Amino acid sequence: MATIFSKIIAGEIPSYKVAENEQFYAFLDINPLAKGHTLVVPKKEVDYIFDLPDDELAQMHVFAKSVAKAIEKCIPCQRIGVAVLGLEVPHAHIHLVPINSETDMIFSNPKLKLTEQEFKDIASSIFQAWKKI
Ligand code: AMP
Repeated sequence: MATIFSKIIAGEIPSYKVAENEQFYAFLDINPLAKGHTLVVPKKEVDYIFDLPDDELAQMHVFAKSVAKAIEKCIPCQRIGVAVLGLEVPHAHIHLVPINSETDMIFSNPKLKLTEQEFKDIASSIFQAWKKI
């Protein structure tokens, strides 16, 4: 059965897209730790990130770097924190989280409640910035 992220990539479930190429897709986390919290996923369905072949793992990180650079241009923050958990969705993904302090990366922190319009505006600004990277 396809994962929820494969359904998102296929367009069967809506998402707030921030970047895409042939191999990878990036979209806003629906329960964000911060404005701009983004997930980067391979289009190929693999559960555990460290089961990806070396070249794909490397390419995924290079793609995530381009997305992080775009987020930085849109969301005021000290830097972009990077995390891999994968305990909830069995489809490899990298979390990119705009942070100003160590505690901004605590995944048990309360999540932000954003309106649909806020999600749309954030995603669109990151996507525009990403296209210029
Ligand atoms: P984890 O597998 O522990 O890295 O957590 C999965 C992440 O995916 C969580 O931060 C969820 O908020 C996020 N998530 C789950 N479903 C969706 C969705 N439909 N759209 C965007 N983000 C999602």
